[in-house]
Amino acid sequence: EREEATGVAPTPVRVAVGGAFGRMGREAVELVRATEHFLLVGTVDRRGRSLEGVPGFSSVDELFSAVRPDVYVDFTSPEAVYGHTRAALEAGVRPVVGTTGLAREEIEELAALARSKRLGAVIAPNFSLGAAVIRRAAALAARFFPHVEIVEMHHDQKKDAPSGTALLLAEAVAEARGGRAGGVLGEAGSPPSPDHPARGVLAFGVPVHSVRLPGFVAHHELLFGGDGEWLTLRVDTVTRRAFMPGLRYAVERVLELEELVYGLDRLLEREL
Ligand code: NAD
Repeated sequence: EREEATGVAPTPVRVAVGGAFGRMGREAVELVRATEHFLLVGTVDRRGRSLEGVPGFSSVDELFSAVRPDVYVDFTSPEAVYGHTRAALEAGVRPVVGTTGLAREEIEELAALARSKRLGAVIAPNFSLGAAVIRRAAALAARFFPHVEIVEMHHDQKKDAPSGTALLLAEAVAEARGGRAGGVLGEAGSPPSPDHPARGVLAFGVPVHSVRLPGFVAHHELLFGGDGEWLTLRVDTVTRRAFMPGLRYAVERVLELEELVYGLDRLLEREL
């Protein structure tokens, strides 16, 4: 049994990765292996493969009964993520979850479980540092520039519109304006208001324009109109590597937490 000492990071940090053979999971495995003070102690994937020298499992239950990581990173699927995160907390393992699709009530239940066990947990649907910083910058700008519209541009394979990140940005603007923002998770966009014909959809009262064209990856822009000036905030995410510094930060910080934090921006804010 390893010593449980809150606030003191174990060295090395023993990390397991769920969804290790998926697109994000492979990047996460590479990150853990490339980070000197991280040690990859196990992988989970439905595909049931394993990496050389690292035990591989086909379920988290098998993983947690065989190895006890300090941190469990999840990039699996919306159907599996709640059960995986719960299993980690129940096993006394700190989850860092990148998988999207958790419902608001599920996040609240996981937060209550983490609190009762005094275990750190991070759930972040977007680990990009740029997206976290722009959300904070948007909140600052919204206090001084009342007029804002959001443009988000993605590849034409993306099914949802507006993007989850655009909704989070709209929510940050609404929060800064002092309006009801709809909680930590955001809400779906609403149809254009009669006051704003042909101006995208309104999300938290902010017009959001969605562009879907081949060639784009993931781009978000906030345009603030002022008196004789305007301000543009823009973030472009072009490869999955963009998520890795934020993921590494979350794996390090979760060891010091005793509760669940939702959103990388909220985790960064604790630093400021
Ligand atoms: P993917 O389909 O490429 O990979 C998922 C992997 O998880 C697969 O290898 C699959 O076999 C495995 N898996 C699925 N269900 C499982 C289960 N029940 N048990 C064990 N293994 C299981 O998907 P992806 O593109 O890597 O995305 C994974 C998730 O990460 C999605 O929810 C996606 O939206 C999210 N995502 C998050 C961020 C972020 O920054 N937080 C960035 C990109 C994608």
